[in-house]
Amino acid sequence: ENAGSKPHLVLLSSPGLGHLIPVLELGKRLVTLFSFDVTVFVVASHSSPSETRVLQSAMTPKLVEVVELPPVDISGLIGPGTAVVAQLCVMMREIRPIFRSAIYALKIRPSAVIVDFFGSESLVIAKELGIPMFVYFPCNAWFVALTTYVPILDKVVQGQYIDQTEPFLIPGCRPIRPEDVVDPMIDRSDQQYLEYVHMGVEIPKCDGILVNIWEDLQSTTIGAFRDSDLLGQVVKVPVFTVGPFTRTIESPSTRLQIYNWLDKQPKVSVVYVSFGSGGTLSLDQMTELAWALERSQQRFIWVVRPPTIKGRDGSFFTMGNGGDDMSIYLPEGFLTRTKEVGLVMPHWSPQSDILSHPSVGAFLSHSGWNSVLESITNGVPMIVWPLYAEQRLNATLLVEELGIAIRSKTLPSREVIGREEIENLIRTILVDEEGAKIRNRVKELKLSGEKALSKGGSSRNALSQVAQQCQTSWERLKAKA
Ligand code: UDP
Repeated sequence: ENAGSKPHLVLLSSPGLGHLIPVLELGKRLVTLFSFDVTVFVVASHSSPSETRVLQSAMTPKLVEVVELPPVDISGLIGPGTAVVAQLCVMMREIRPIFRSAIYALKIRPSAVIVDFFGSESLVIAKELGIPMFVYFPCNAWFVALTTYVPILDKVVQGQYIDQTEPFLIPGCRPIRPEDVVDPMIDRSDQQYLEYVHMGVEIPKCDGILVNIWEDLQSTTIGAFRDSDLLGQVVKVPVFTVGPFTRTIESPSTRLQIYNWLDKQPKVSVVYVSFGSGGTLSLDQMTELAWALERSQQRFIWVVRPPTIKGRDGSFFTMGNGGDDMSIYLPEGFLTRTKEVGLVMPHWSPQSDILSHPSVGAFLSHSGWNSVLESITNGVPMIVWPLYAEQRLNATLLVEELGIAIRSKTLPSREVIGREEIENLIRTILVDEEGAKIRNRVKELKLSGEKALSKGGSSRNALSQVAQQCQTSWERLKAKA
């Protein structure tokens, strides 16, 4: 048994860039701040070149050890229409024995394990090893509240959540409107709902929950977790607010090309439009968005992905042949007419680099949590356009509680948002007085996030507490060895 010369932490990331990126970032912080050894296990799908790029950039400079777990074939365990969340949960359950063997095969015994919230099935491995086990939520704390409270809602709410007329009450938290519930709660008879409830039961069994926010961002919700009369009844383990952790590096060459363009634009004049690593729009919606961008006469960078089309059998497929020819689905002449003011990028962009450029004045975003944090930490206000997962919760938090975003009246995932409405949103945030006010609020939040991360700040202290537990665990291992 080799406990090593310092604590060795094992991190596990479930598939998807929205999990991989924040887990890698957390790993890097644990190395740079505490000089721990960190091994990040990733369940990579190699489904996209961007994923490969993210993995490669994590290796340079090599702060953490990245180990890919061999993929497991889950095709026999899921049906053709199995929802993403259910697929992820099944995948993470099937990977557990492989993860377990990989941990046992490590030369240096780990002192603690940190998994993202899809990895809670692996809690038992840490228990077996007698080391602390943390669950990491690269999400907002309201979502953590819902996830850990859903086993109770499951008992008290009758019928489908989305058919309820009253919001759901979670002790000490902002009530959740039926239309804002997360995807796995939309249909209670679906496998992904059962998986989600199960997750809510498993997660509080860990030794601590890490959340990629900072205390001042959601102090009420965090207070509810700490109050044994409120959410503390359900989640008895500590909740550590350790963020905001965001991504900083991208490929220098793509960055250069975009900076050449951005450098020529006036300050705070460009709206950056992107729907995360996987968001797609329908063809109709894309047409409206394109016209809105053109009619707004504002500058823009748009990360364009081929639209999804509904087939006759109700299933969705992607338009085009996966190539970069965007003229197939963008309005005729759009690219030519907007070439002076717009930069259209197929599939992927170095997002965190773009958001940090002073010419960028707004972000039209699907409000995935990583995107939200990248926007806040760069002081960029948002137009939120939630599509999937917990994004409706994120959007409501940003608009109604934090006041740093605006959104359409039309609900994006239900109806097509018309060009006029989108055009108004873009002008409001970039040109109007209201936009300027929102921008000031984001800038305040940006500062409060920086303060939390700095020496003596709340997030730095919270992560130090986690580190201390890892240190103690290592000392115990060392004494035993
Ligand atoms: N991202 C990027 N370029 C893109 C799209 C996404 O760099 O064109 C990054 C983005 O900066 C963020 C992550 O991918 O770090 C997406 O995570 P998020 O939580 O916003 O959304 P998800 O993809 O999980 O829905």
